[in-house]
Amino acid sequence: MDIQAPGNQPGKIVVVGSLNADLTIYTERLPEPGETLHGEGFTVNPGGKSANQAVAAGKLGADVSLVGAVGRDANGTMLLESCAAANVDVSHVHQVPGVETGVAVVTVDASAENTIVISAGANGTLSPGDVAEAGAAFEGAAVLCLCLEVDLDTVEAAAKAGAEAGATVLLNLSPYAPIRPSLAALSDVLLVNAHEASQFLDGEQIPGPDAEAPAWEPVLRHLVARGLPSAVVTLGADGSVVLDSRAEAGKRIVRIAPTRVDAVDTTGAGDAFTGGLAARLAAGDPLAEAAAFASVGAALATTKKGTQAAYPDASAVFARLK
Ligand code: ATP
Repeated sequence: MDIQAPGNQPGKIVVVGSLNADLTIYTERLPEPGETLHGEGFTVNPGGKSANQAVAAGKLGADVSLVGAVGRDANGTMLLESCAAANVDVSHVHQVPGVETGVAVVTVDASAENTIVISAGANGTLSPGDVAEAGAAFEGAAVLCLCLEVDLDTVEAAAKAGAEAGATVLLNLSPYAPIRPSLAALSDVLLVNAHEASQFLDGEQIPGPDAEAPAWEPVLRHLVARGLPSAVVTLGADGSVVLDSRAEAGKRIVRIAPTRVDAVDTTGAGDAFTGGLAARLAAGDPLAEAAAFASVGAALATTKKGTQAAYPDASAVFARLK
Protein backbone atom coordinates (compact mmCIF):
# COMPACT_ATOMS: atom_id res chain seq x y z
CA MET A 1 0.00 0.00 0.00
CA ASP A 2 1.26 3.47 -0.83
CA ILE A 3 1.22 6.51 1.40
CA GLN A 4 -1.28 8.54 -0.62
CA ALA A 5 -5.01 8.30 -0.16
CA PRO A 6 -6.72 7.02 -3.35
CA GLY A 7 -7.06 9.79 -5.92
CA ASN A 8 -4.60 12.03 -4.08
CA GLN A 9 -1.43 13.09 -5.87
CA PRO A 10 1.23 13.20 -3.13
CA GLY A 11 3.81 15.97 -3.23
CA LYS A 12 7.54 15.54 -3.35
CA ILE A 13 9.74 15.48 -0.23
CA VAL A 14 13.28 16.89 -0.20
CA VAL A 15 15.60 15.94 2.68
CA VAL A 16 18.82 17.92 3.08
CA GLY A 17 21.46 16.78 5.55
CA SER A 18 23.41 13.88 6.97
CA LEU A 19 24.24 10.28 6.10
CA ASN A 20 26.18 8.23 8.69
CA ALA A 21 27.24 4.65 9.15
CA ASP A 22 25.86 3.54 12.55
CA LEU A 23 28.39 1.43 14.45
CA THR A 24 26.27 -0.07 17.23
CA ILE A 25 27.20 -2.10 20.29
CA TYR A 26 24.44 -3.69 22.38
CA THR A 27 25.13 -3.81 26.14
CA GLU A 28 23.25 -4.73 29.32
CA ARG A 29 23.59 -1.12 30.53
CA LEU A 30 25.26 2.06 29.29
CA PRO A 31 28.85 2.57 30.55
CA GLU A 32 29.69 5.18 33.19
CA PRO A 33 32.42 7.70 32.25
CA GLY A 34 35.80 5.93 32.41
CA GLU A 35 34.19 2.46 32.55
CA THR A 36 34.81 -0.41 30.10
CA LEU A 37 31.99 -2.91 29.52
CA HIS A 38 31.63 -6.09 27.49
CA GLY A 39 29.10 -5.71 24.68
CA GLU A 40 26.60 -8.31 23.50
CA GLY A 41 26.84 -7.82 19.73
CA PHE A 42 28.04 -5.33 17.12
CA THR A 43 26.42 -4.12 13.88
CA VAL A 44 27.27 -1.68 11.08
CA ASN A 45 24.12 -0.19 9.57
CA PRO A 46 23.08 2.75 7.39
CA GLY A 47 22.01 5.78 9.41
CA GLY A 48 22.36 9.54 9.81
CA LYS A 49 19.29 11.60 10.62
CA SER A 50 18.60 12.80 7.09
CA ALA A 51 19.22 9.45 5.42
CA ASN A 52 16.98 7.83 8.03
CA GLN A 53 14.22 10.37 7.49
CA ALA A 54 14.45 9.96 3.71
CA VAL A 55 14.35 6.16 3.97
CA ALA A 56 11.46 6.25 6.45
CA ALA A 57 9.42 8.36 4.02
CA GLY A 58 10.59 6.32 1.01
CA LYS A 59 9.57 3.02 2.61
CA LEU A 60 6.13 4.55 3.17
CA GLY A 61 5.87 5.07 -0.60
CA ALA A 62 6.61 8.82 -0.70
CA ASP A 63 8.52 10.53 -3.54
CA VAL A 64 11.81 11.52 -1.82
CA SER A 65 15.03 13.25 -2.91
CA LEU A 66 18.06 13.35 -0.59
CA VAL A 67 20.73 16.08 -0.76
CA GLY A 68 23.91 15.19 1.12
CA ALA A 69 27.51 13.96 1.01
CA VAL A 70 29.38 10.71 1.68
CA GLY A 71 33.01 9.65 1.25
CA ARG A 72 34.25 7.34 -1.49
CA ASP A 73 34.38 4.36 0.84
CA ALA A 74 32.47 1.20 1.75
CA ASN A 75 30.24 3.00 4.25
CA GLY A 76 29.30 5.56 1.60
CA THR A 77 28.35 2.81 -0.83
CA MET A 78 26.30 1.05 1.86
CA LEU A 79 24.39 4.26 2.57
CA LEU A 80 23.65 5.01 -1.09
CA GLU A 81 22.44 1.44 -1.63
CA SER A 82 20.17 1.54 1.40
CA CYS A 83 18.58 4.82 0.26
CA ALA A 84 18.15 3.56 -3.29
CA ALA A 85 16.53 0.35 -1.98
CA ALA A 86 13.89 2.55 -0.32
CA ASN A 87 13.33 4.38 -3.65
CA VAL A 88 15.05 7.54 -2.40
CA ASP A 89 16.57 9.60 -5.23
CA VAL A 90 20.29 9.95 -4.35
CA SER A 91 21.37 11.84 -7.47
CA HIS A 92 22.09 14.88 -5.25
CA VAL A 93 24.27 12.96 -2.75
CA HIS A 94 27.92 13.80 -3.54
CA GLN A 95 30.67 11.22 -3.16
CA VAL A 96 33.48 13.45 -1.90
CA PRO A 97 37.07 12.29 -2.50
CA GLY A 98 39.62 12.31 0.34
CA VAL A 99 37.15 12.41 3.21
CA GLU A 100 35.49 9.56 5.13
CA THR A 101 31.76 8.95 5.32
CA GLY A 102 30.17 10.22 8.55
CA VAL A 103 30.03 7.76 11.42
CA ALA A 104 27.83 7.45 14.53
CA VAL A 105 29.04 5.28 17.40
CA VAL A 106 25.89 4.04 19.14
CA THR A 107 25.47 2.12 22.41
CA VAL A 108 22.08 0.51 23.11
CA ASP A 109 21.24 -0.97 26.52
CA ALA A 110 18.80 -3.72 27.53
CA SER A 111 16.01 -1.18 28.12
CA ALA A 112 16.48 0.12 24.53
CA GLU A 113 18.00 3.41 25.78
CA ASN A 114 20.94 4.70 23.73
CA THR A 115 23.89 7.09 23.61
CA ILE A 116 25.33 8.38 20.32
CA VAL A 117 28.63 10.09 19.37
CA ILE A 118 28.99 11.38 15.79
CA SER A 119 31.98 12.13 13.55
CA ALA A 120 30.66 14.30 10.71
CA GLY A 121 33.14 13.25 8.00
CA ALA A 122 31.75 14.07 4.54
CA ASN A 123 28.62 15.60 6.10
CA GLY A 124 30.88 18.45 7.20
CA THR A 125 31.57 19.34 3.58
CA LEU A 126 27.91 19.88 2.63
CA SER A 127 27.73 23.59 1.74
CA PRO A 128 25.22 26.22 0.63
CA GLY A 129 26.82 25.77 -2.83
CA ASP A 130 25.75 22.10 -2.82
CA VAL A 131 22.21 23.20 -2.00
CA ALA A 132 22.26 25.67 -4.90
CA GLU A 133 23.57 22.93 -7.19
CA ALA A 134 20.68 20.68 -6.15
CA GLY A 135 18.20 23.39 -7.15
CA ALA A 136 16.22 21.08 -9.44
CA ALA A 137 15.40 18.83 -6.47
CA PHE A 138 13.46 21.67 -4.84
CA GLU A 139 11.20 22.34 -7.83
CA GLY A 140 7.66 21.40 -6.88
CA ALA A 141 8.68 20.21 -3.40
CA ALA A 142 5.79 19.91 -0.94
CA VAL A 143 7.86 19.21 2.17
CA LEU A 144 11.49 19.88 3.14
CA CYS A 145 13.14 18.03 6.06
CA LEU A 146 16.14 19.57 7.81
CA CYS A 147 18.20 18.54 10.83
CA LEU A 148 21.29 20.01 12.49
CA GLU A 149 23.83 17.29 11.64
CA VAL A 150 25.23 19.53 8.89
CA ASP A 151 26.52 23.11 8.87
CA LEU A 152 23.95 25.72 9.94
CA ASP A 153 24.61 27.93 6.91
CA THR A 154 23.78 24.95 4.70
CA VAL A 155 20.62 24.28 6.71
CA GLU A 156 19.56 27.90 6.29
CA ALA A 157 20.32 27.90 2.55
CA ALA A 158 18.16 24.80 2.19
CA ALA A 159 15.36 26.34 4.27
CA LYS A 160 15.43 29.36 1.96
CA ALA A 161 15.28 27.18 -1.15
CA GLY A 162 12.44 25.14 0.36
CA ALA A 163 10.46 28.20 1.41
CA GLU A 164 10.91 29.76 -2.05
CA ALA A 165 9.62 26.55 -3.63
CA GLY A 166 6.54 26.76 -1.38
CA ALA A 167 7.43 23.64 0.61
CA THR A 168 6.43 23.08 4.24
CA VAL A 169 9.77 23.34 6.05
CA LEU A 170 10.26 20.82 8.90
CA LEU A 171 13.18 21.71 11.15
CA ASN A 172 14.37 18.88 13.36
CA LEU A 173 16.45 20.65 16.03
CA SER A 174 18.71 17.67 16.49
CA PRO A 175 21.40 17.46 17.70
CA TYR A 176 20.40 20.63 19.55
CA ALA A 177 22.06 23.92 18.64
CA PRO A 178 20.75 27.45 19.12
CA ILE A 179 19.22 28.71 15.87
CA ARG A 180 19.18 32.17 14.35
CA PRO A 181 15.86 34.05 14.08
CA SER A 182 16.32 33.99 10.28
CA LEU A 183 16.22 30.15 10.26
CA ALA A 184 13.23 30.04 12.60
CA ALA A 185 11.40 32.49 10.32
CA LEU A 186 11.91 30.16 7.33
CA SER A 187 10.62 27.09 9.22
CA ASP A 188 7.01 25.92 9.46
CA VAL A 189 7.24 23.04 11.94
CA LEU A 190 9.84 22.56 14.68
CA LEU A 191 10.47 18.89 15.52
CA VAL A 192 12.07 18.27 18.91
CA ASN A 193 12.27 15.53 21.53
CA ALA A 194 11.68 16.39 25.19
CA HIS A 195 15.33 17.19 25.83
CA GLU A 196 15.69 19.44 22.77
CA ALA A 197 12.39 21.18 23.61
CA SER A 198 13.71 22.05 27.05
CA GLN A 199 16.96 23.36 25.54
CA PHE A 200 14.97 25.43 23.04
CA LEU A 201 12.99 26.83 25.98
CA ASP A 202 16.26 27.97 27.56
CA GLY A 203 16.39 25.08 30.03
CA GLU A 204 12.78 25.38 31.23
CA GLN A 205 11.07 22.11 32.08
CA ILE A 206 8.40 21.04 29.61
CA PRO A 207 5.08 19.71 30.99
CA GLY A 208 5.12 16.10 32.25
CA PRO A 209 3.70 13.15 30.27
CA ASP A 210 0.30 13.33 32.02
CA ALA A 211 -0.11 17.09 31.60
CA GLU A 212 -3.34 18.30 29.95
CA ALA A 213 -3.24 20.45 26.79
CA PRO A 214 -3.47 23.84 28.63
CA ALA A 215 -0.15 23.11 30.34
CA TRP A 216 1.48 23.34 26.90
CA GLU A 217 0.09 26.85 26.19
CA PRO A 218 3.28 28.63 27.39
CA VAL A 219 5.36 26.42 25.06
CA LEU A 220 3.18 27.38 22.08
CA ARG A 221 3.41 31.07 23.05
CA HIS A 222 7.20 30.77 23.29
CA LEU A 223 7.34 29.16 19.83
CA VAL A 224 5.27 31.87 18.20
CA ALA A 225 7.37 34.56 19.91
CA ARG A 226 10.44 32.90 18.34
CA GLY A 227 8.85 33.05 14.87
CA LEU A 228 7.76 29.41 14.65
CA PRO A 229 4.07 28.79 13.94
CA SER A 230 4.01 25.14 14.99
CA ALA A 231 5.93 22.26 16.54
CA VAL A 232 5.77 18.60 17.39
CA VAL A 233 7.40 17.54 20.66
CA THR A 234 8.10 13.81 20.78
CA LEU A 235 8.05 12.21 24.22
CA GLY A 236 9.45 8.73 23.57
CA ALA A 237 7.22 6.00 25.03
CA ASP A 238 4.84 8.75 26.22
CA GLY A 239 3.81 9.72 22.66
CA SER A 240 3.94 13.29 21.39
CA VAL A 241 2.32 16.73 21.46
CA VAL A 242 1.36 18.83 18.43
CA LEU A 243 1.40 22.60 18.92
CA ASP A 244 -0.09 24.53 16.02
CA SER A 245 -0.88 28.24 16.22
CA ARG A 246 -2.49 28.04 12.75
CA ALA A 247 -5.08 25.42 13.78
CA GLU A 248 -8.61 26.41 14.77
CA ALA A 249 -9.34 27.15 18.43
CA GLY A 250 -9.52 23.96 20.51
CA LYS A 251 -7.17 22.12 18.13
CA ARG A 252 -4.08 24.22 18.69
CA ILE A 253 -2.64 21.71 21.16
CA VAL A 254 -3.20 18.01 20.44
CA ARG A 255 -1.83 15.26 22.67
CA ILE A 256 -1.03 12.06 20.74
CA ALA A 257 -1.15 8.96 22.92
CA PRO A 258 1.67 6.46 22.42
CA THR A 259 1.19 3.25 20.47
CA ARG A 260 1.92 0.42 22.90
CA VAL A 261 4.67 -1.85 21.58
CA ASP A 262 7.48 -4.03 22.94
CA ALA A 263 10.40 -1.73 22.11
CA VAL A 264 13.77 -3.40 21.56
CA ASP A 265 15.73 -0.48 20.02
CA THR A 266 14.56 3.13 20.01
CA THR A 267 17.52 4.36 17.93
CA GLY A 268 16.19 6.40 15.03
CA ALA A 269 12.61 6.47 16.34
CA GLY A 270 12.65 10.25 16.02
CA ASP A 271 13.71 9.96 12.38
CA ALA A 272 10.99 7.40 11.69
CA PHE A 273 8.56 9.92 13.17
CA THR A 274 9.91 12.75 10.98
CA GLY A 275 9.79 10.61 7.82
CA GLY A 276 6.22 9.57 8.55
CA LEU A 277 5.19 13.13 9.32
CA ALA A 278 6.76 14.38 6.07
CA ALA A 279 5.09 11.61 4.06
CA ARG A 280 1.61 12.38 5.37
CA LEU A 281 2.06 16.17 5.12
CA ALA A 282 3.16 15.69 1.49
CA ALA A 283 -0.02 13.63 0.95
CA GLY A 284 -2.09 16.56 2.23
CA ASP A 285 -2.85 15.66 5.86
CA PRO A 286 -3.17 18.40 8.48
CA LEU A 287 -0.32 18.47 11.03
CA ALA A 288 -2.10 16.63 13.87
CA GLU A 289 -3.29 13.81 11.59
CA ALA A 290 0.15 13.46 10.05
CA ALA A 291 1.64 13.27 13.55
CA ALA A 292 -0.80 10.54 14.60
CA PHE A 293 0.34 8.47 11.61
CA ALA A 294 4.00 9.27 12.34
CA SER A 295 3.57 8.19 15.95
CA VAL A 296 2.40 4.71 14.94
CA GLY A 297 5.22 4.35 12.39
CA ALA A 298 7.84 5.40 14.94
CA ALA A 299 6.47 2.98 17.55
CA LEU A 300 6.61 0.11 15.05
CA ALA A 301 10.20 1.09 14.21
CA THR A 302 11.24 0.48 17.84
CA THR A 303 10.13 -3.17 17.71
CA LYS A 304 13.14 -4.21 15.61
CA LYS A 305 16.88 -3.64 16.03
CA GLY A 306 18.55 -0.98 13.88
CA THR A 307 17.13 2.08 12.20
CA GLN A 308 16.40 2.04 8.45
CA ALA A 309 15.85 -1.73 8.31
CA ALA A 310 13.31 -1.38 11.13
CA TYR A 311 11.14 1.24 9.44
CA PRO A 312 7.67 0.04 8.46
CA ASP A 313 5.83 0.29 5.15
CA ALA A 314 2.53 2.15 4.84
CA SER A 315 0.31 -0.92 5.09
CA ALA A 316 1.82 -1.86 8.49
CA VAL A 317 1.18 1.65 9.80
CA PHE A 318 -2.36 1.94 8.43
CA ALA A 319 -3.17 -1.51 9.86
CA ARG A 320 -2.10 -0.41 13.36
CA LEU A 321 -3.70 3.06 13.01
CA LYS A 322 -7.22 1.59 12.66
P1 ATP B 1 15.99 9.07 18.62
O1 ATP B 1 16.96 10.17 18.93
O2 ATP B 1 16.29 7.79 19.35
O3 ATP B 1 15.74 8.88 17.19
P2 ATP B 1 14.11 10.91 19.67
O4 ATP B 1 14.64 11.20 21.05
O5 ATP B 1 14.34 11.92 18.62
O6 ATP B 1 14.58 9.49 19.20
P3 ATP B 1 11.64 10.04 20.86
O7 ATP B 1 10.82 11.13 21.47
O8 ATP B 1 12.40 9.14 21.76
O9 ATP B 1 12.55 10.70 19.73
O10 ATP B 1 10.70 9.10 19.97
C1 ATP B 1 10.05 9.59 18.80
C2 ATP B 1 8.69 8.96 18.71
O11 ATP B 1 8.85 7.53 18.56
C3 ATP B 1 7.79 9.12 19.92
O12 ATP B 1 7.07 10.33 19.87
C4 ATP B 1 6.87 7.92 19.78
O13 ATP B 1 5.86 8.20 18.82
C5 ATP B 1 7.80 6.85 19.21
N1 ATP B 1 8.42 6.03 20.27
C6 ATP B 1 9.67 6.10 20.76
N2 ATP B 1 9.87 5.19 21.73
C7 ATP B 1 8.72 4.51 21.86
C8 ATP B 1 8.28 3.43 22.68
N3 ATP B 1 9.07 2.85 23.59
N4 ATP B 1 6.99 2.99 22.52
C9 ATP B 1 6.16 3.56 21.62
N5 ATP B 1 6.52 4.58 20.81
C10 ATP B 1 7.78 5.05 20.93
